[in-house]
Amino acid sequence: MRKIGCMGGTFDPVHIGHLLAAESAKEAAKLDEVWFVPTSIPPHKPQPDTDSQARCEMLKAAISSNPGFRLETIEMEREGASYTIDTVTELQAREPDAQFYWIIGSDMVGDLPNWRRIDELAERVTFIGLERPDQPGNDAALPSFLRRRLLRAAMPPLGISSTDIRRRLKNGRSIRYLVPEAVHDYIRGNDVYGS
Ligand code: ATP
Ligand code: MG
Repeated sequence: MRKIGCMGGTFDPVHIGHLLAAESAKEAAKLDEVWFVPTSIPPHKPQPDTDSQARCEMLKAAISSNPGFRLETIEMEREGASYTIDTVTELQAREPDAQFYWIIGSDMVGDLPNWRRIDELAERVTFIGLERPDQPGNDAALPSFLRRRLLRAAMPPLGISSTDIRRRLKNGRSIRYLVPEAVHDYIRGNDVYGS
């Protein structure tokens, strides 16, 4: 059975923490593919200032060299808040023969109990959790139905966040090597975050 890992997020912008997390999850769970699923309207955080198209273009630039990675714009095409359960239900209807995984950083692990229809979602996907050094997750605090559906994958910890990257850009600091070269070029070429 084809194993597909999805990684949701605002990707404002995508950075090497996302890419290494995806690659580490792919290797650990022997996934065939990773699909990056940019959120249109995040239910649990403020709307990103950066429009959907620019966030998609940056993702495309980041993943184009990896045949195992692709962009999935399903949440951009749907109206209203982007709930993972709706996305997964739709993707599974499209790919009935695939097994789905949902890749998250440790800051999201503790948040899982708050996700919409989490019990149903946990029946549909296995979660893969990656450690974020600045935001440790506490798996022990999770209800057992979630702990059972959570794999942990290791990666060299990267204390990188899009928030920090946006802050650096605002302060005229370098973000080189925090994002892939192609993303760096796109941001500069299109003045995505102002100057
Ligand atoms: P922001 O600071 O805007 O929230 P972010 O860096 O957290 O941005 P998101 O788009 O919110 O990026 O994250 C998408 C997914 O990637 C989430 O599951 C998040 O936990 C995970 N992730 C982000 N950065 C890292 C990292 N450095 N290491 C591991 N996972 C990460
Ligand atoms: Mg985040």
